[in-house]
Amino acid sequence: MKHFFLADADAMDRFGRAVAEELQPPLVLYLQGDLGAGKTTLVRGVLRGLGVTGACKSPTYTLVEPYEVAQGQVFHFDLYRLQSPEELDFIGLRDYVDQEAICLFEWPERAGGMLPPADLVLRLRPRDAGRDVHIEAGGPTGEQLLERLAVRATES
Ligand code: ADP
Ligand code: MG
Repeated sequence: MKHFFLADADAMDRFGRAVAEELQPPLVLYLQGDLGAGKTTLVRGVLRGLGVTGACKSPTYTLVEPYEVAQGQVFHFDLYRLQSPEELDFIGLRDYVDQEAICLFEWPERAGGMLPPADLVLRLRPRDAGRDVHIEAGGPTGEQLLERLAVRATES
């Protein structure tokens, strides 16, 4: 478990870019936290860091937004509006996660255990005017990633 404090949205964006430097597919990241916790801001930083130059639309209604970067496929999921876990079959979740992609999930808890296990779980929470980010690894890949990340982004 590592802890980071990001004082404002710009710091969150830079943190996302730093995270991106360490990401190699296949990889599954969960982003947890209430509405307004900064999950999408962090994901956008990651996408920018991975080299996405166009619009980064929030997949609020589509549930998933795909990107193609140098490292491969990236899928940004926002499951806030998921009606039921079965809807994941409907959007073809299996096809997405089988692609050796980088998968970023906002609101993973809405999936009722249907998601692949996370390499990293990022928990975001407001503190003062900024945000706390606690990151936990789900296995050896995540552990190694988290170690490298802690070196790159200054822990606090
Ligand atoms: P979520 O996706 O978790 O609902 P957003 O990424 O949409 O949250 O961010 C909600 C608001 O919080 C935005 O106005 C964003 O600029 C702001 N924000 C993001 N990160 C931080 C931070 N580290 N400190 C302060 N405000 C932040
Ligand atoms: Mg969001």
